[in-house]
Amino acid sequence: MIGPAIAAAVAAGLAALPFFVSDYSLGLMIGMTGYVTLASAWALFSGHTRYISLATVAFYGTGAYTVAVLNEMMPYPAVLTCAAAIGAGLALVVGLSTLRLAGIYFVIFTFGLAELVRQVITWYEVNITGTLGRYIFLDITARGIYWQMLALAAVTIALTAFIRRHRLGLALKVIGDDETVAAHSGINLARTKLVAFTLSATIITLAGAIASPRWTYVEPVIVFNPTVSFLTVIMALLGGARSGLGPDDGRRAVVPAVRMAVRQLSRHLSGASWPALHRRRVSPAGWHAGHARQVAPVNEKGAGMSMLEIRNATKTFGGLAAVDRVSFSIQQGEVAGLLGPNGSGKTTLLNLVSGALPPSGGRILIAGRDMTGKRADLIARAGVARTFQLVRILPSLTPEENVMVSAVFGAVPHWGEKAREIARAALARVGLDGHHARAAGDLTYLDQKRLELARALAAEPKLLLLDEWLAGLNPTELKEGIALIRSFSETGITILMVEHIMEAVRALCPRCLVMNSGALIADGPTGEVLADPHVIAAYLGEVEDA
Ligand code: ADP
Ligand code: MG
Repeated sequence: MIGPAIAAAVAAGLAALPFFVSDYSLGLMIGMTGYVTLASAWALFSGHTRYISLATVAFYGTGAYTVAVLNEMMPYPAVLTCAAAIGAGLALVVGLSTLRLAGIYFVIFTFGLAELVRQVITWYEVNITGTLGRYIFLDITARGIYWQMLALAAVTIALTAFIRRHRLGLALKVIGDDETVAAHSGINLARTKLVAFTLSATIITLAGAIASPRWTYVEPVIVFNPTVSFLTVIMALLGGARSGLGPDDGRRAVVPAVRMAVRQLSRHLSGASWPALHRRRVSPAGWHAGHARQVAPVNEKGAGMSMLEIRNATKTFGGLAAVDRVSFSIQQGEVAGLLGPNGSGKTTLLNLVSGALPPSGGRILIAGRDMTGKRADLIARAGVARTFQLVRILPSLTPEENVMVSAVFGAVPHWGEKAREIARAALARVGLDGHHARAAGDLTYLDQKRLELARALAAEPKLLLLDEWLAGLNPTELKEGIALIRSFSETGITILMVEHIMEAVRALCPRCLVMNSGALIADGPTGEVLADPHVIAAYLGEVEDA
């Protein structure tokens, strides 16, 4: 833990260094501070979300080039402001168009971006201005550059620490673990990613602008050097990208980044090639340790109102109608069972209601509001919570954080101690108290199911969707599970539960709906529905097929 007093002393010490060192050392220090800034800014977005960005040099180079173009036209502070604005603008455009890409596609796009920006600038310079290469005439000393970069590094580290304690930090972590869960907990995926990406890119652009006077002569090939992007990723990963640069483990992140920066600079100055240096200095064990650290877990009441109304809902996948013109409505406080053979469309129907999938046709009204085709986060905030047929928890977050997420982003937003209280209460309710510290990924299957239920509860939902939550439990656990769900229904939550276990359906659901091949084939009191020859035939059909 780095206290504010120590941080201030370290900053003062670093700021005083230029008075005691040679020009050569000052050059090294500028490079190091620059890479600490780049790695921290990179980790601000990519560290938590795990969207590995190779766009660093696209923004860094843009910053440098902005200074090269504008340095003789306006005062220096205005040049920096323009650079930041251009960086933010570029980040918004890039972010809006690419943050839907996942995994390797995002990596490749960001890599291509630097090349694209370089080509565009080269084209512009050759065809429009008729020049290629520009001089930067600024009377900024090496010390001046160092102090600016140091200030930017300090701001980046402070901002990172702030974000980690802010809703944004939690949202980014959740997105990094599971975007589907994030959306279903009420997190606006696009906005969250865009804000973090833009902040990160703006800092990186400013770093490029601040460093640019060191070059004197600037050309697209020089400033858009992809090595910058790769080095930034390597440093951030070695530092523990998910740890960020917060006060808790700041040293763990800063020290390796500084070490890498020193190596890189000494390479530049000695002329040794990067791969040779890499072989000499970084042992394979070091690599694995760095990677392991990065991937390891950081670890209403009022009857008579229609809570859910589905009108002719349809979902087609290619030619197959997984949900075929289904209509029904569920009153407030009702507990309804949704039955049907495997593949009959039950999960798909829940997906339409929760916003995981947009319907191909029909309408879905929640508490009287038309939510057809709305995003999952909006539906979550309208009071819908769900569990998933294949249990989905946030493995690298603690159980408490897992549950806090829906208290923070759900229908009724809370923050700080209040959110924590709600999370603890929900954990206790499902029998998971005493698991506070561990990573959720370490929990047993049953406990993960409980955790998922606690997360749904902490959202204080009006409508709870359960997708075979009781599946896979042994007889004792099943009894406990049934009692648990009954205790929720007694508080007035409306429940729609997909369930195969008839014992549970009879015990919990006065009403049953049955689907077969996408269509609703029965709806009524459970006893009658289960005795219906059509329903029996649908189930028998499945037995015969099997
Ligand atoms: P159930 O939950 O009743 O077992 P599902 O809703 O999971 O059934 O599936 C209904 C049908 O829709 C199945 O034939 C399944 O293969 C198909 N299906 C479900 N989701 C998708 C998807 N994302 N893409 C294509 N087909 C799907
Ligand atoms: Mg299913």
